[in-house]
Amino acid sequence: MEIILLQALTDNYIYLIANKDLAIVIDPSEAKPVLDYLAQHNLKLTHILNTHHHNDHTGGNLELKEKTGAIVIGSTYDQHRINGISIALKDNDHFQIDGLEFVVMFVPGHTSGHIAFYFPKLKSLFCGDTLFSLGCGRLFEGTAHQMYNSLDRIKSLPLDTLIYCGHEYTLNNAKFAITIEPGNHELIAKLEDVRLARKNNQPTIPAILEDELKTNPFLRTESIEIRRNLQMVKASDVEVFAEIRNRKNKF
Ligand code: ZN
Ligand code: FE
Repeated sequence: MEIILLQALTDNYIYLIANKDLAIVIDPSEAKPVLDYLAQHNLKLTHILNTHHHNDHTGGNLELKEKTGAIVIGSTYDQHRINGISIALKDNDHFQIDGLEFVVMFVPGHTSGHIAFYFPKLKSLFCGDTLFSLGCGRLFEGTAHQMYNSLDRIKSLPLDTLIYCGHEYTLNNAKFAITIEPGNHELIAKLEDVRLARKNNQPTIPAILEDELKTNPFLRTESIEIRRNLQMVKASDVEVFAEIRNRKNKF
């Protein structure tokens, strides 16, 4: 079993899980890079998984479905707006593809129907635009409260969970994060790692949950340094989260 990262559009990642000669794709913004990879490696696409309805995650659905016969899976809340959807799943649904199981996590906030796919055997979470490395998605349809709760659920996964997010935003996120928690030594070191990786055109994904818990300001609303910085020592976690999100919007 192998997880392949395909770069698409400007900064999107499409993920392929290859299982012998079969493949699953997650969030195909475009069909072409997927079709090329399948042809080069003699793989048959069986399923398309969508975390949410945005076009930069679903744009390749119809062409892939037409050319490969793959089945499109998405959130029950997005049945009316995901192209080609034929299986709709909800929170905590367990689903198996050729013996490989994943669990659906309902993680609204970026959109109202957003889901993430957790593959326990692969120790991997495909979370679209909910959690990014050192950041989180914009609140287009949901509230800060919803996003906070969604991230809180992700925080409870095993520490060694690999985070496969929808975009390569890590460098910009790191530059912002350092303004929120400038004294975080792990974050300072991480910024340098990310700079180097991006200079060499290397992906910063997958991230590891344990590292995110130490460096991602959106997961660190309890940090005393952050709270002092924002002058929100006594605020609730959701309030601190909302303030960090607002600042990021203006960064
Ligand atoms: Zn999105
Ligand atoms: Fe996106």
